[in-house]
Amino acid sequence: MALIKCSECGKEISNKADACPSCGNPIYKPTIEIEEKEKIITIEQTSKKWKKQGCLSAVLYVFGIIMLGKSIPFGITIIVIALCFSFYARIGAWWTNG
Ligand SMILES: [Zn+2]
Repeated sequence: MALIKCSECGKEISNKADACPSCGNPIYKPTIEIEEKEKIITIEQTSKKWKKQGCLSAVLYVFGIIMLGKSIPFGITIIVIALCFSFYARIGAWWTNG
């Protein structure tokens, strides 16, 4: 346990305290900030993952349209897969990020 100075009133208080006992100023806790940052990074990485899936579905969609000219059932199958992919990516992004 270490003593730190309150940024508001300057009194020495425990760094384990949630708030300054004399003025009620909330104590700065670096560990919480780091946790928050990691959480944000995780969200960014997951949204990138869903964005990648969205891109993949767009590529598949274009590929399906090209394939339509050669084989209609095959092209339709690819387009349906692409639509499922983009739907899944959208639901996933919504589910992860709220
Ligand atoms: Zn204080």
